[in-house]
Formats: sequence, structure tokens, C-alpha cells
Amino acid sequence: MAATAAAAATTPSSPLLRRAAAAPTTGHHYQLRCSAKPSPLELRHYAARLAPARALFPDRVTPFSFDADGDDHPREECGVFGVIGDPDASSLCYLGLQKLQHRGEEGAGIAASDADGKLKSVTGLGLVGDVFGDPTRLAKLPGNAAIGHVRYSTAGASSMRNVQPFLAAYRFGQLAVAHNGNLVNYQALRNKLEAQGSIFNTSSDTEVILHLIATSLSRPLLSRICDACERLAGAYSLLFLTADKLFAVRDPFGFRPLVMGRRPNGAIVFASETCALDLIDAAYEREVAPGEVVVVDRRDMSVSYACLVPHRPRKSCVFEHIYFALPNSVVFGHAVHERRSAYGRALAEESPAPTADVVIPVPDSGFYAALGFAQASGLEFQQGLIRWHYSGRSFIQPSQAIRDLAVKLKLAPVRGVITGKSVVVVDDSLVRGTTSSKIVRLLRDAGAREVHMRIASPPVIGSCLYGIDTPSEGELISNRMDLEGVRRTIGCDSLAFLSLDKLHSIYGDEAHELCDACFSRNYPVLPTVPEPVPELVSAFED
Ligand code: SF4
Repeated sequence: MAATAAAAATTPSSPLLRRAAAAPTTGHHYQLRCSAKPSPLELRHYAARLAPARALFPDRVTPFSFDADGDDHPREECGVFGVIGDPDASSLCYLGLQKLQHRGEEGAGIAASDADGKLKSVTGLGLVGDVFGDPTRLAKLPGNAAIGHVRYSTAGASSMRNVQPFLAAYRFGQLAVAHNGNLVNYQALRNKLEAQGSIFNTSSDTEVILHLIATSLSRPLLSRICDACERLAGAYSLLFLTADKLFAVRDPFGFRPLVMGRRPNGAIVFASETCALDLIDAAYEREVAPGEVVVVDRRDMSVSYACLVPHRPRKSCVFEHIYFALPNSVVFGHAVHERRSAYGRALAEESPAPTADVVIPVPDSGFYAALGFAQASGLEFQQGLIRWHYSGRSFIQPSQAIRDLAVKLKLAPVRGVITGKSVVVVDDSLVRGTTSSKIVRLLRDAGAREVHMRIASPPVIGSCLYGIDTPSEGELISNRMDLEGVRRTIGCDSLAFLSLDKLHSIYGDEAHELCDACFSRNYPVLPTVPEPVPELVSAFED
């Protein structure tokens, strides 16, 4: 969006610049994707509803095809992990990243600081196990401090360059960074930096942070990091590694999670989720607070803290609880499985299915909500769908018939649970509706007498700006039609969502500390439209 706006505003006169402006942008945040093709009737229906959102995000597009693995969930784009004060730092990082694999499956990397304070990194495309399957790769990363990253990458030749941690050398030494989140003023900052002569190696917003730190006039590094962060807008949970220090930083809104723990040997660990701490026997100590910088010095393992200014009201991503985080994690101070059970119980109170025989979850993420629904409604809970975990992500589906069979490969009904029954099927969220309609068909084919769909979150009506890969707003089914239209499209006998008010009531006084923009379009921080950069134009014209 920002790139397009800037190009239009500058109206380039040289043929070279016009060609550059016309070319599709391939960066992480601006790559075009195939869009769904709604009917003309549907287009008329939702065009009016989308007008306000379009004004804010006129060409918001998503960089990832949601058809790639037949899944219809939004995708977390990153997870970070760091450890300092342990001789096996890079191996622990490897294990921690394995546990955070669900937060990003397209690329992984680790940067470590050796005994002499020299930083090295190993990055690659693929799962953590693929990138570090060859043990010689981890052996290249000695030292007692390391940071790591898992991410979803965009397709294309340049994607390898975007795999983190980024490792840079500047006038005060080496610096590695791993980032979870999304900056909403990335393009504006990048334009300014480029106008001042900065050269960028990637299309990632994270590189902007490195440039801001390098060009800051403050000293020491802590001040430069604070300086840089004060110019950032949006979501960032960051880990920085230098020769002798590890810095953990969380944006003032606290959109994305970041926790701190300690191993029995005193090593300090940071991770996106507590499940990664559990794996390596690190005791959870606390969240890195929104707007906080935690600094650990490996020379004496001292820990110091600083605050970013200005302070903001906390806005933690509620979708972490609904879908992204693993159920055995504690996120934003709440056990994720407990939150999901509460959504299910609230949904049963709000939209019961009194004629149903059995409650089944859409595995795996609908499990705890379905359990809560069954408990609150007094209905039997059964595993009526089995998820097959080995089908891979890159299956090429040449025809509709083959695509339908592929769905059965991923999700298989348990006929003994379903046949002849009135079934309540509980899912965590409904985004485009494509998977849900396949599930309803699967259940009917398996002999379900009735299918009642219950969604343990409100209708998704807004794209995320803060690091979650959601479809464009025109593709969100709840933007395209009303509840009855969605029900008819999915093909179930009844459909209900958890209301936003009910979701808030679960959190009580903490409700105002949540970001729920994808359900409400109340965006805590809006994108900065970049200003035209006349210097850049004249440079091209020369
Ligand atoms: S818009 Fe939705 S997915 Fe994005 S941070 Fe807010 S609640 Fe989370």
C-alpha cells in the first residue's frame, strides 16, 4: 500500500522510474497474491461495507497463498528465541526453535557469539530440522550466547535473504537481530533512510531497525536501540545479540508475546512462548513488559532494564490465545488452553445446540474450545475428526476432484462417532470459510444427520497489520456476507460465532488491553503513509 501510494504521489517522469513503479513489488509485505473471485452480486454486497477499511488500507494484500496446504487459518509470521550464559547456547536455540516451529515454517536461523565475541550465523529455508539437520551447521555456532528465529517467507528468489537473524557489522561492532511483528511505518522509514543514502539488502522491515540503530548518534548501544525503537510504529518483539550482550525488546503496545526464563545453571532465556522454555528446563520468570528493554551482559550475567517512551495502553493480540500459540503455553499471563476452554463455555452459553448428540473439535486448534462447549452444555465430547500430520505442505492439486480427496488426506472423519448423529463441530476461527465448507461436506458424507458449526471467536472482518498473515479484507467471508449467507455457503444446519462482547467479558477488566482489530477494525496504530521522496526521483533522473 505504502509503496503504491508513494509511487503515485511522486509521478515519476523518467522511463526507468516509471518501469520500476509499475513492476509488482516482491517485498514481504507487498507481494501480490491471487485473490478469490466473488460473484458480481457479492462484490456489490460487500463493496459498501469495505469502503472505510479501503480508505485506510487501500491495497492491503497478503503475501502468502492460503491454499498452499489447504488450511484456512491466518498464519503467525515469526517466532524468536534467545539464550545467554550457557555453553550449549546454539543447541538450546535449535531446540527452542523446534518448539516454536508452528510460528513459522518457511525459514529458520541462529546467530551465536563465540568466546572471542565474534558473531556468526547460519540461516536457511525450510523447517528448523531441515536447516540444522546437518550437525556441522550447529557446530559452526560455538559460544554461550545465541538468538534464533523462525519465519514464514515469501516465495521467490529473494526470500533467502529475508531469513533471520540478520547479522550486520557497523562502526561499533557486529549486531544480530531477530524480529517478530510488523512495522506499520516501515515504508516511510525506509524512504527516509534511502534518501539519506542507506542501502538495503532485503525487503524486510527488520533491516530498517538495524539502519536506525547504526545511524543513531546516541551512545551506548542501549540508548541507540531505545532511540531507534522510538521511531518505530507497530508490532515488534525483538532480540539483539552483540559480542557480549543480549537485548530483549517489546513494543509499547505489547502486540506480540515475549517471555523470559532461567535455566538451572543460571542461563537466561527469551522466547515467544513458554512452551519453548519448558522444553529446555528453563523456569518461566515473567513477560518482557510492553515497552521494556531487558539487557543481559554475559560477562557477569547482570540484568538491567530500560523503558521505551512514550508509554502506550497495552494491546496484546487476542488471536495468540484463540489460535496461534500452543495450548501448553502461557501467553500474556494466561494459560492458552484455559482461555480456549473459556471461549467454548461462553459459546455454549450464548449459542447452545440443544438438539445435538455429540460435540467434536476441528483438530487441533478447536480442541479446548470444543471441550469447554461440551462441558458447559452437558453434551458428549468425542474426537470425530482425525488430523493427519504427514501430508506435507507442497502437494500440487491439479483438479477439484483431487483437491477434495486431499482434504480427506488431511482430515478424516470417525464414522462411529458421526454416523446418524446430530453433530456440533467447534472451530477456533472462521476466515475465508473454505476449510469449514469442506469439513461440513466431510461430516455429511460420513453420515451426520445434522451439522451445527460453532466458532469460538467473533467473525474476522479486518486484516492484521501487526505481523499476522491474514487474507485481504475482500476475501474474509464475514465481510462478504451476513451470518445466514455464511451458513448457506458453508452448508451447515446452524452457525454461530462467539460475540465480541462475550469475548471481552471473559477478560473482564483486561479486555481493553487486547488488540481485537481483526474482529472490530479498531486498529491501535495505523499505517504511516510515506511522504514522496523528491531526492530519490532526481537521483533516478540523473
Ligand atoms: S489485528 Fe487481530 S491478529 Fe492482528 S494483532 Fe490484532 S488481534 Fe492479533
